[in-house]
Amino acid sequence: MMEQVESKPSISFIEQIITEDLKEGKNNVRIHTRFPPEPNGYLHIGHAKAICLDFGMAKKFGGKCNLRFDDTNPVREEVEYIDSIKEDIHWLGFDWEEREFYASDYFGRLFDFAVDLIKKNLAYVDDQPADVISAQKGTPSQPGKESPFRKRTVDENIDLFYRMNEGEFDEGSRVLRAKIDMTAPNMHMRDPIIYRIIKSAHHRTGETWKVYPMYDFAHGQSDYFEGITHSLCTLEFEVHRPLYDWFIDQLKTDDYRPRQIEFNRLNLTYTMMSKRKLLELVQENRVSGWDDPRMPTLCGLRRRGYTPEAIRRFVDLIGYTKVEAINDVSLLEHAVREDLNIKTPRVFGVLDPLKVIITNYPEGKVENVELINNPEDETMGKREVPFCREVFIEKDDFMEIPPHKFFRLAPGMEVRLKGAYIIKCESFKKNEKTGAIEEVYCTYDQDTKSGGHASEKKVKGTLHWVSARHSVEAEVRLYDRLFTHEDPAGQKDEDYRVFLNPDSLKVLTGCKIEPSLKSAKPLDKFQFQRLGYFCVDYDSKHDHLVFNRTVSLKDTWAKINK
Ligand code: ATP
Ligand code: MG
Repeated sequence: MMEQVESKPSISFIEQIITEDLKEGKNNVRIHTRFPPEPNGYLHIGHAKAICLDFGMAKKFGGKCNLRFDDTNPVREEVEYIDSIKEDIHWLGFDWEEREFYASDYFGRLFDFAVDLIKKNLAYVDDQPADVISAQKGTPSQPGKESPFRKRTVDENIDLFYRMNEGEFDEGSRVLRAKIDMTAPNMHMRDPIIYRIIKSAHHRTGETWKVYPMYDFAHGQSDYFEGITHSLCTLEFEVHRPLYDWFIDQLKTDDYRPRQIEFNRLNLTYTMMSKRKLLELVQENRVSGWDDPRMPTLCGLRRRGYTPEAIRRFVDLIGYTKVEAINDVSLLEHAVREDLNIKTPRVFGVLDPLKVIITNYPEGKVENVELINNPEDETMGKREVPFCREVFIEKDDFMEIPPHKFFRLAPGMEVRLKGAYIIKCESFKKNEKTGAIEEVYCTYDQDTKSGGHASEKKVKGTLHWVSARHSVEAEVRLYDRLFTHEDPAGQKDEDYRVFLNPDSLKVLTGCKIEPSLKSAKPLDKFQFQRLGYFCVDYDSKHDHLVFNRTVSLKDTWAKINK
């Protein structure tokens, strides 16, 4: 089930189709795509896959890509979502210019088209309740049953449809259905509902309408109205395609029709992608909001420290196919690691501090040691970090009784403090009650300063550190997978909540970071050396810095693929 990255074909099947269409001169050699989100939630990384394709193909072939909100359901949709969707698409690096459209822009034309269908005797008002209609649909192997209202006259249907829209009837009391074929092998062709009564105000059209088109009735026609040439969508819409084509057949006046091409959805291990369920997590306060750094939403990933480049790179790596699969989330982590490796300055941060006192270093003395900001990028320069008699190291970099091959600090052992000196552990202070190590006492060899003439002296371990006197306190939030199951939404017998990871968030306080980070701003990104990549959180204040760990340094993906 899990998909490994294969050597991706250099050109996707979708690109091939578009290239062929252009070669054949279809649509006057025009490429026009659209991204059609329903504004009922925030965008997630699955949407990023669609966005990269819709906008990416337009860009690649010199065409255009529209942003179209599929706002056919006034009940679930909110302006908050529209704003966030626009922000996230821009953040990903794409732009729809002036082409911001709404399915609701076409409510008038869709209504007229429905009236046309009635006039052609291709649609009728059905007075049966939803459960009866659904029971008559049959099954894939059994034909459906015709509604007793199927034989209504055109005049009666017209009259009823208008009265439905005037608010004369209750929600659910009547629907408009296309008259196609109750015995069609494709269930979507068995007289699908195309209009229903909804008496809620719409965020754009207000009280104008009392009937609203079904998604299936709005989607293909909206593409048609906008002159879309290639409607790229996910595989579940493949079975809807004959219905979309049927509508366009009734609508079109020349040869033009949008060509629908389906590709596989993005699914990720240990992740849930359904907007409805993500909304539940937010509403039930199981996460702090849509932008909780554990969420697969684009705003969550942004807050976590992901870059648009990393997400686009990941989407590129997994590619587009015709087969549903679950991608390994560690490939996404691999992509962000690669990007942050090039972009982020290295800094020192100690998450779980233990004080080291260098007993032979003069009290009150401060030296500035020079450190390279990024060995991958010389242009990022150097910085000075203060060093003095007392420093913090990571608690787990010291062991009273070290195991074999522990190349860190232990009684009698030597390590280098990166960029500074080699120190030797002479003794330590232990809390007799708890057994906790409270302080470590070392001596330093002043001839071993990094870069100095006697610095050739070799030790096996190098530790990161922070000067105790100069350090800045920080809160650090460590994240783990939100779910403990590889496929939390795919377990039929269990509610996905059962698989919520109780340890997905760990908050560390009293962390010590180097003083150069004092002025870091939200979304600034760093590599804390030896620990991982970290990003300043929105909750950060100048007197209370907060960092999110984007990802640890260790790349499990690279190992898996060796
Ligand atoms: P959900 O079922 O989570 O609500 P959706 O498909 O209804 O998602 P839309 O807002 O309708 O969400 O999606 C807009 C576009 O994004 C559609 O073209 C859809 O095919 C695509 N899309 C949504 N989820 C994914 C995914 N996981 N992978 C790839 N494309 C996706
Ligand atoms: Mg949808």
